[in-house]
Amino acid sequence: AKGQEAMRYAFYDPNMGNKADHYLTMETGLRRALGNRELQVLYQPQVDVSSGRILGVEALLRWQHPDRGLIPPMDFIPVAEQTGLIVPISLWLLREACLEVLSWQGPESELRLAVNLSSLHVEQPDFVDGILDVLLETQFPPERLELEITEHVLMRNLDAVIEKLRELSGRGVTFAIDDFGTGYSSLSYLQRLPIHTLKIDQSFTQGLYQTTDEATLVNTIIAMAQGLGLQVVAEGVETGEQLRSLRSMQCHYMQGFLFSIPLVGPETRSLIASWDDQASM
Ligand code: C2E
Ligand code: CA
Ligand code: CA
Ligand code: CA
Repeated sequence: AKGQEAMRYAFYDPNMGNKADHYLTMETGLRRALGNRELQVLYQPQVDVSSGRILGVEALLRWQHPDRGLIPPMDFIPVAEQTGLIVPISLWLLREACLEVLSWQGPESELRLAVNLSSLHVEQPDFVDGILDVLLETQFPPERLELEITEHVLMRNLDAVIEKLRELSGRGVTFAIDDFGTGYSSLSYLQRLPIHTLKIDQSFTQGLYQTTDEATLVNTIIAMAQGLGLQVVAEGVETGEQLRSLRSMQCHYMQGFLFSIPLVGPETRSLIASWDDQASM
């Protein structure tokens, strides 16, 4: 709980008075941000390790604060979760990202979009309807949407979560387990849930050189995923050496600064366009 406290108040400024004041300031600021277009979506490409093709993008939230500049998600998502603002914020991001990705390419495109969900959102009784409404409204093909959840989401109320995920999965939406390997839950949920992808946490990827324990762990996760028919995305790939290891382990996809940092929409669109040109040459 100490760590959580520290994270919650990472944005704490001693000049702003006590923590309760600070919290209220953040909440008011976030409400305003949602109405004022201070929130922004960045996109980070997910790349096929063997062919270099861009398979899709992960949408990542930013807060462009008028006085404080760019605030990273870890500094405000905890407050958004505690105030319940994470629900309208996530739905805003989903709508925005669906429309933006659709605007980059024609409807025949197969580019996938990954969006992060918080457990508080998944727990809402109208969670499934909220997602389906956005898909209907934006006309985004459900098969191209991947929702990322952490093992944390599954630890709360597995039976209810299973039902919701199955309902969305029945409409074509796929699911990824984010930060895979960092949770403490049993792996039995992998058989009970409609999971499509495991995202290997960057703490494992970054230890990938020759004979480290991380290499053994990553190899084991990839083998298990292949056995279960799941896709694997390695996160946080920063070096050519990490990429070579992943290639030799037959990891499917990667995401990381080596290929691209998260970019604004127009930059993402140009990157994808220039990449497609190269691939067709
Ligand atoms: P995540 O979902 O695990 O996202 C990956 C994070 O790793 C992103 O940080 C990304 O910028 C960063 N990253 C990508 N490649 C590299 C790399 O090569 N090296 C390193 N060191 N980092 C890399 P970001 O954007 O700051 O997001 C942090 C976390 O905030 C996310 O972790 C996710 O848990 C949460 N988050 C972001 N956007 C949303 C959102 O829309 N909704 C919710 N609920 N959570 C979000
Ligand atoms: Ca994620
Ligand atoms: Ca992750
Ligand atoms: Ca993470």
